[in-house]
Amino acid sequence: MASIFSRIISGEIPCYKVGEDEKNFAFLDINPVAPGHVLVVPKKEVDYLFDLDTDDYVSLQLFAAKVAKAIAKVMPCKRVGEAVIGLDVPHAHIHLIPINSEADMNFFKEKKQLSEAEMQHIADAIGAEL
Ligand code: AMP
Repeated sequence: MASIFSRIISGEIPCYKVGEDEKNFAFLDINPVAPGHVLVVPKKEVDYLFDLDTDDYVSLQLFAAKVAKAIAKVMPCKRVGEAVIGLDVPHAHIHLIPINSEADMNFFKEKKQLSEAEMQHIADAIGAEL
């Protein structure tokens, strides 16, 4: 069975899409640690980020850098933090989170509740900078 992220990439499951290139796809995390929390995933379904072959890993990181720059243009923040966890969804992905302090990378914090309209607005605004 395809991973939930493969089903998002194929359009079977909706998401707040930020953008894509030939090999990679970006969308908002549905339970954001901070507004503008984006997941960047390879279209190829590989369980764990560090098991990607070199070309796909480099491609994903280069795409993540573009998305991070777009996030920084839209979301007020000092930096865009990058995290790899992968305990919940067995499809390689990178978390990109706008941050102002180390504490903003805390995944135990209560998740932000944003309206559908706010999520869509953020996804569109970041996507427009890509
Ligand atoms: P992890 O595998 O531990 O890196 O966490 C998976 C992340 O995927 C979590 O932050 C979830 O909120 C996020 N997530 C799970 N399902 C969806 C979905 N359908 N759309 C967007 N984000 C999701």
